[in-house]
Amino acid sequence: MTSYKLLLLPGDGIGPEVMAEVEKVIGALDALGLARFEIERDLVGGSAIDAHGKPLTDEALARADAADAILLGAVGGPKWADVAYEIRPEAGLLRLRKDLGLFANLRPAICYPALADGSALKRELVEGLDIMIVRELTGGVYFGEPKEITTLPDGSKRAVDTQVYTTAEIERIAHVAFDLARKRSGRVASAEKHNVMKSGVLWKEVVTKVHADYSDVTLEHVLADNCAMQLVRRPKQYDVLVTDNLFGDVLSDVAAMLTGSLGMLPSASLGAVDAKGSRKALYEPVHGSAPDIAGKGYANPIAMIGSLAMCLRYSFGLGEAADLLDSAVTRTLASGARTRDIAAEGTTPISTSEMGDAIIRELKHAA
Ligand code: ATP
Ligand code: MG
Repeated sequence: MTSYKLLLLPGDGIGPEVMAEVEKVIGALDALGLARFEIERDLVGGSAIDAHGKPLTDEALARADAADAILLGAVGGPKWADVAYEIRPEAGLLRLRKDLGLFANLRPAICYPALADGSALKRELVEGLDIMIVRELTGGVYFGEPKEITTLPDGSKRAVDTQVYTTAEIERIAHVAFDLARKRSGRVASAEKHNVMKSGVLWKEVVTKVHADYSDVTLEHVLADNCAMQLVRRPKQYDVLVTDNLFGDVLSDVAAMLTGSLGMLPSASLGAVDAKGSRKALYEPVHGSAPDIAGKGYANPIAMIGSLAMCLRYSFGLGEAADLLDSAVTRTLASGARTRDIAAEGTTPISTSEMGDAIIRELKHAA
């Protein structure tokens, strides 16, 4: 069996706590003969600042570059609130994304049947929800130049951010979206604002052109503001939703909150496919380091474990193992297991490691 080189970067706050559960799952996958890994570990974020004076060392970056995939916990926390901007914990993560060319951010928004409680209206809206948001991650207004604040002659200021997209940047993210749609229900919605932005005009034009290679996939163009409204009004109309960096940032948070807790949501950031057919990839939960609950055993490990499932699926082609892991999570939730963030009022939640154990039990049961 192929052994995959996996770099674990637990990071800060609850990062190491949820990563510990992933390590247990990796052990179980190995024992069941479902997947084999060569594990390496390194520091990122605040923990790297404490050890090395910067949030990502060159050695850690080289290790990340050499790995088949990276699993990251979370970075940051109040302890490092006063470090210089250039070496803040988040700068380590941004450098990883930039230097590895991770341009495609995949954020599934899935609503587990066991968690679709609440009013009948909410149930109808979100039960069975399964959207994949594909956000362009390395271009657009967050990176375009000029990006500056200048002082005008009258002493007031002027701030400039610039949205830049090239044909090549849009093409590659569109391919990611259409390829994914093929493996799902075959529908892509593309969100931009061609009515007021030139980059939106190009976005729509290029996505339409790329679509010509995917006659089996349907494409719908939607204005980003309308898309935000539709996500709240009737979210299940979407399958794959592709959009730029800025709109993706906002729309993926909207979609995330339809599903319940931040502690449930995984993500993947993918680079370009190289000559050997492989691609750089980093998998991490959508949530942050959650300093308010760190060290208490309250953290929900499902987002981190789901990130491992995405890694099995997208980096290693181990779809069967990923399905087994995903369904172990679904069954664990159906059995009533709840960490504090998803527990109903008045019920007794279980701890981070008890949730990890429960998922592993279900995994072993099914495998
Ligand atoms: P960042 O800036 O790093 O994204 P943030 O402040 O935006 O951090 P989080 O750290 O994700 O947000 O935390 C937001 C809230 O969600 C907190 O109250 C936190 O306790 C809760 N939360 C986040 N992740 C989890 C988890 N895995 N399990 C339980 N609760 C969580
Ligand atoms: Mg956040």
